[in-house]
Parts: sequence; structure tokens; C-alpha cells
Amino acid sequence: MRPDTPADHTAEAERLLRTAAQYPEDHEPLLLQAAAHLELAGDRPKATTLYDRLLASKVDHPHLVKAFKAANLWEYGHEPEARAIIEGIRAAAPLDPAAWEIVAETLEAHDELDLAHASLTTALTMLGVGEEVVDVTGIPYSTQSLLTTRHRVRRLLALPHDTWDTLADELHTAPITLDELHDPKRLWSLGSEDPAELQAELARLRAELGSYRAALSRPFPVAVLHWPEPELDELLTAYPELQSEYPTHAAHLLDIEASLRELAAAGTPNLGIVTATVPSYEAFAASESSSPANADLLPQYATTLAARGRAVAWPPGRGADCWCGSGVAYGDCHGVAQT
Ligand SMILES: [Zn+2]
Ligand SMILES: [Zn+2]
Repeated sequence: MRPDTPADHTAEAERLLRTAAQYPEDHEPLLLQAAAHLELAGDRPKATTLYDRLLASKVDHPHLVKAFKAANLWEYGHEPEARAIIEGIRAAAPLDPAAWEIVAETLEAHDELDLAHASLTTALTMLGVGEEVVDVTGIPYSTQSLLTTRHRVRRLLALPHDTWDTLADELHTAPITLDELHDPKRLWSLGSEDPAELQAELARLRAELGSYRAALSRPFPVAVLHWPEPELDELLTAYPELQSEYPTHAAHLLDIEASLRELAAAGTPNLGIVTATVPSYEAFAASESSSPANADLLPQYATTLAARGRAVAWPPGRGADCWCGSGVAYGDCHGVAQT
């Protein structure tokens, strides 16, 4: 269910716009997501109309919407307007990490490295990321993302590591270190040695860029569906065809945790859990002109809930309750280390 061709992206954007008409209270995340698909489909002018539509209404994250609009405009020949919007955001100094992230990435993409760096430093300072961070697990995804981007920009500017760079390194748990990924000299030194190795390195860089772009184009988490026990009972009573998807509630919970850990291990950023209910699932099936008994709808239902902004970030922070609703700390419940 991952759209790949421009036509897929156009179709997905249309589906999201239909959902937005159905759930006006969720129009902000849905329109942002639809605009991202339109950008991926190459229809940048239409994406701009969605950003304008959002900015003309009341939105929770006006600066993020403006940042997306600027990024999009700059890509199709509207550089002065894009720069003016970015200057406006920088001057407004919003407490919205995602808006800063998009601003910095846009500047970086157009070789404005000093300005990108200054923006990221301002953002982290304003968000109160201290010089000494004791509990790194308490750092939210959005802040971590600012630290990673700043780490990359600083390597491109040939600046030495500072405290926040060290923190970025510490937070990055993938097998290839950030210093390796962000080393601008690496390509030169490898190029003279071994072309096969150069190819491999280029592939790695592209992979990093690709996952970054994927995260950018989907500002909402990759979410896994969670049925609370009474809802699952009701679902399976009404639609016994789904029994094979969910043999028991306990197994369903273990599946959720295992899927998320697998996605995290594969380097998927920004993970979340969406809570399912029978009435909302039935409404979704109806909107897709399908039957709730159709198991193929389940992942689409999860994606739609996430696009409506309904995902809760996974994993829970240190000391927080488990996502399953047991009331027990995550670390003592589904977050217990597996061997
Ligand atoms: Zn580093
Ligand atoms: Zn649990």
C-alpha cells in the first residue's frame, strides 16, 4: 500500500481529500498529507493551493504549513517568495520543531548551509535542549531530527563536533554511524580506491536521503493498529472472518510490539500506534465502499487514522505507562527487553 507512481500519489491525495471532507475536524493533518502526495506526484501548484487553503483557515501549526509551502514553492521556481516565507518563520521563532526542521532542510537543499545551521541552533536553544542531557530516551523524535540535521549541516560546513553533535551521535542507533553517513570527504577518499566500494557508499547515502525524504513527505508516524480488548471482542463477534488476523487479544498485543520493533530496527523513523474502534472502522469501510470483514482494509484504516493525526508515538518515554493500557510502566509490560 505504498504509492510509487505519480498516478498512485494523485489517487492517494484524492482519497485523503475525500477523508478530509468527511472529517473536517482533522483537515489539517489530512490536507498536509495530501499536499505531500501531490508534491510527490509532481503537481506542485496544486500542493500550493492546499497549503493556501490551510493558511486561510484556523490551523494548529501555521508555521509548519508555511514551511511546507516555502519548500514546495522553492522547488518550482518561486525562490524569492520561498525565501520571504522562511525569513518570516525565522523572525517569528515558533516553538514548533517540525517547522524548523522543514526550514533548515529547505535551506540545506539549496546550499544555504550557514542559514540552515543558524536556524537549527536557534530552534534547539529555544526548545530548551540543554548542554547536558541526562536522559536521552526522553528526547522526542522531532528534536532528535533537528539534532541529526544539524550534525549533517555542520559536517558539510567542516565544523568540529560540539555537545549537540555528540548527543546526535549518541541518539543515532543504526549500524552505520552518523559520522560515517555525514562525512563529506568519504566519497573522495573512496573514489580513488575501489569503484565497487564507492557504489556501496553512494547506495548508503541514497538510502539515508531516501528515508529522510520519506519521513519528510510523511510528517505523520508509520502507525500500527491497536484494538483494545472490548473492541476486538466486538469486532470478532460481528466479523468472525477476521478471526485469523487476530487469534487472541494477547497475541495481537505481542504482534504490535514485535512489528514496531522490527520497523525501528530497519531504521523506520517516527513510529506510532493508532487505537481502533469498531464504529470508526465500520465508517471507514463504508467510505471505501467495502465490508469491514475485508482484512485488506485494516492497514488502510491504520494509515487513515495516522493521517488524521490520531497516532500516539512509540516507544513510550522512560517511566511512561505501556501503550497497551495495562497501567503498568512500559519497561515492565510490553517494553520488557526480549532475548
Ligand atoms: Zn558525530
Ligand atoms: Zn503492555
